[in-house]
Amino acid sequence: MKSIQISSDRCVGCMTCCNVCSFSHEGEFNPSRARLKIYMEPFTGDVEGQVLESCDLCGGKPECVRWCPVGALKFA
Ligand code: SF4
Ligand code: SF4
Repeated sequence: MKSIQISSDRCVGCMTCCNVCSFSHEGEFNPSRARLKIYMEPFTGDVEGQVLESCDLCGGKPECVRWCPVGALKFA
């Protein structure tokens, strides 16, 4: 089964994916309501991502993958 995969070495922590996810599902730009989480360590810039169980894969057309500006998300 396909899933969302996060490339932490590519991610720049812009939060576009989280904003797009919350906007498309909840109608507001609010990363705290997104179905994926991106954590960036402020000093090292290390990134960790997590897709929550509530992710519905946008019905097979993931908005987060579509809008990530650096191609750090894959649906495969
Ligand atoms: S696939 Fe859709 S629901 Fe899942 S994290 Fe991405 S935007 Fe949110
Ligand atoms: S949109 Fe891409 S680069 Fe920006 S936080 Fe999400 S995964 Fe990282």
